[in-house]
Amino acid sequence: MIRDEVILQLDKSDDRLEAVGLCLKDSEDLLGRLQHAVVEAQAAAYVSRHRRCSACGRCLRGKGQYPIVFRTAFGHVPLASPRFYRCRCHPADSRTFSPLAKLFTEHTAPELLYLESRWASLISFGMTAALLRDVLPVAGTTNPETVRQHLHTVATRQNADLGTGELGLSEDGPAADQPSPFAREAVIVGIDDGYLWNWHDKQKKFEVIVGKSMAEDRDDRYFGLVRSQDAAPKRRFCEVLRRQGLPTDQPVTVLTDGGDSVRALVGDMPAGSEHQLDWFHVAMRMTVLG
Ligand SMILES: [Zn+2]
Repeated sequence: MIRDEVILQLDKSDDRLEAVGLCLKDSEDLLGRLQHAVVEAQAAAYVSRHRRCSACGRCLRGKGQYPIVFRTAFGHVPLASPRFYRCRCHPADSRTFSPLAKLFTEHTAPELLYLESRWASLISFGMTAALLRDVLPVAGTTNPETVRQHLHTVATRQNADLGTGELGLSEDGPAADQPSPFAREAVIVGIDDGYLWNWHDKQKKFEVIVGKSMAEDRDDRYFGLVRSQDAAPKRRFCEVLRRQGLPTDQPVTVLTDGGDSVRALVGDMPAGSEHQLDWFHVAMRMTVLG
């Protein structure tokens, strides 16, 4: 429980419309200071719980401290992380340890990673950094490069969660608790592709394929992949179906612009899937014929 009191004082005039209520700057100051107090109190409580030997209860001798920084959506919080000698009453594989290293397994709060990843998947890294700096007290630490690095961290973790297998099915076939497949016509997957400049080598482009899976009474799900780089496109697509509550072997109707690479992806869809040209591109071809 946090018992420390944080004294907050606001000195605001009341003679103009712009002065009424809290402004973003006020909220950044308040939240930033509150966050410092909360994180510091939590870290101190954690350290005090771990400064006695868990076996004999003896108070552990200190061996200095080192600085760490915890980045949160409400500012970065510098902390001193103490190091203690381990008690000699039981064998251990190291002489010293830092309790906070166990609490701060990462130095960026999951919520900030989520915000950065969510916005960076919708708009550019630069715009994401600017947006977060506009509304949160993160000016000192948020820039396009940190956003890009964090997005990659999250993407790498998601890829690891996806597994390395090519198929969404286990070796023994579909799991026993899998729902039964719908009719192929009931699940529509629209796919399109586009070319992006390579971030590191601006002379080169690569193809990105994006898609949307739509099924009745279910939320739409989106996916994207770089087919030339993706080791498991089929696995990725099966995960989309699974998240929609569909069986991973659900056959689907795929709508594309008829391009070679998007049509080739149909081969990565569950067996029984069918490819159709979308109406826009049918109409375009008819217009050309006309
Ligand atoms: Zn002990």
